[in-house]
Amino acid sequence: MRWPHVRLDLFGDINEMDNRVMDALNELSFEAVRRYAWNHTINSDFRAGDTGQHGAGMAIDFVFFEKKPGDVPVIDQFIFTVGYGRFRRVGLYPHWKNPGLHGDVKDETLYWWRDKAGKYHYGQTPAEILTWK
Ligand SMILES: [Zn+2]
Repeated sequence: MRWPHVRLDLFGDINEMDNRVMDALNELSFEAVRRYAWNHTINSDFRAGDTGQHGAGMAIDFVFFEKKPGDVPVIDQFIFTVGYGRFRRVGLYPHWKNPGLHGDVKDETLYWWRDKAGKYHYGQTPAEILTWK
């Protein structure tokens, strides 16, 4: 199996996913377990009809956790994920029921977070995102 560290059982249709995003998640998930004993769950993968990266199978929404989703601060998830550098674009979602991240492999570097009202705030560096209020 190509992605032994990914919760493949949580995907709708793995065949719709781009290999690059799966490779990235596989390596990230391996490191999450090795360094912090973090598990992961998948919030959203391929979305048919989506005009963005999810519709191309190039994006994944995920949550790292220890015992249950929500128990690892989203800022810690973000710092770990951007530090590992496998996703070109990373979004931070502090207002999901279980706060987590979006990662994709679109050919540009971009970071963002979504506030409680659903507004997106973008930055060219992770540091810009970490100054969110
Ligand atoms: Zn997403």
